[in-house]
Amino acid sequence: MNPADAMRVFDPQDVADAYARLKDAGTRLIVMTMVDNAGITRVKVIPLRRFESAATGGVGMSTLWAVAGGDDQFAAVPPYDSPSGDLRLFPDLTAARPLPSSPGYAWVPAVQYEQSLEISAGCQRSVLRSVVENARSMGFEFRTVFESEMTLLNRDGTPAHSGPAHSARALLPLEDFTLALVEALDGAGIDVEQVHPEYSPGQFEVAVAPRDPLTAADEVVLLRYVARQVARRHGLDVSFAPVVNPGAAGNGAHTHVSVWRDGENLMQNGSVTEPGMRADGAAFTAGILDELPRLLAVLAPTAASYERLKPNHWSGAFACWGVENREAALRFIPGTVSVRRSSANLEVKTVDGAANPYLATALLLASGMRGIERRLELPPPVQADPAGLSEVERDKHRVIRLPEDLARATELFAGSELARSVLGDTLHGALVAVRERAARSAATRDVHELAIEDRFRY
Ligand code: GLU
Ligand code: MG
Repeated sequence: MNPADAMRVFDPQDVADAYARLKDAGTRLIVMTMVDNAGITRVKVIPLRRFESAATGGVGMSTLWAVAGGDDQFAAVPPYDSPSGDLRLFPDLTAARPLPSSPGYAWVPAVQYEQSLEISAGCQRSVLRSVVENARSMGFEFRTVFESEMTLLNRDGTPAHSGPAHSARALLPLEDFTLALVEALDGAGIDVEQVHPEYSPGQFEVAVAPRDPLTAADEVVLLRYVARQVARRHGLDVSFAPVVNPGAAGNGAHTHVSVWRDGENLMQNGSVTEPGMRADGAAFTAGILDELPRLLAVLAPTAASYERLKPNHWSGAFACWGVENREAALRFIPGTVSVRRSSANLEVKTVDGAANPYLATALLLASGMRGIERRLELPPPVQADPAGLSEVERDKHRVIRLPEDLARATELFAGSELARSVLGDTLHGALVAVRERAARSAATRDVHELAIEDRFRY
């Protein structure tokens, strides 16, 4: 065999099959996405005829995107401090999907490689893949999903509905958009469970079915792409930024997680909590609870994220857990008894729409797995509003008010040994540099102004 043939990312037959599948679906252009460390979805678009070449040699991109901020400025830190160097983006063949709502287009998530065909140390999606594979080698699997809260705005910047929350009145001006969106998501293979207008002006939410973690993270990236596209056709713009209307409720990306072994959901059918998690499900929850304050810089990554993450916003401002408690960062959802076996899960409320979904999931799952390995124990659940607890009660339930700004969250994240070991020094260092720069530039700015700038970035 020619040595050049051995050095490939994909089997040529798999490339030919993927090409045929996309061509049959009428694909002419392929949008490759990667989500950077600031949570911005970056794209490269290739014509279908370049597909084989992209799957063989990749598509070039500067390594510096690892340290880009939401403002497109770079936070130079080694090895990301030079204009030299090139990343190769490869399409993940099995994840490619034609987009019937954008005729001629298909979407595919990118995997970041070095020119040597080693996976890049900065590839966020590959970090998630390896967390999932490690857990699988120990007999554990996961189901995860992101809720998508967004704000719909008219062309003149006014909100596309003015409430009341969850009302028929708010839905009516959005009927056409809603139908088009659900059909477009369906066409992209995303299983919509429900949609509704939400709590603040123009706010709208889409809930979709849980998946394996890599697919769930891919799907939230794809959902945002499709939602923006459908919104434009209806004369709307859409923002997933944590705060779009300063002072009103923000946009979360609540992350639902369940851990499984031997086909059984460990968030149910046990007696450790009431209703019952199994011992490993409770230890998994304890692992996330333990690390949460140190993960915040990834889960709530912008300076404006902390305008959303406030008490009494159902956004998870307190590290604690409770059964169906919407003010707890970790809301345990036992589910309706008839479907509990599959649906019992833990909702992590703290995550917002600017978080990189691959990194957020990877760190949450790895924290949970460490909880299992160390057999961590859960404190008693918090059923009241954590903001109203006395100091004694807070201690008993191990309630911690999460960091209140990005600078503090970044300090804690920089000290997270778990994050460092899951991400590796290079990616961890790049994230810290990006957050430090964002926190520094926010220090002299009005947070409402920052939120308005983020509106059309996320
Ligand atoms: N919008 C809230 C948030 O920022 C969540 C409200 C809800 O629970 O649906 O997280
Ligand atoms: Mg909601």
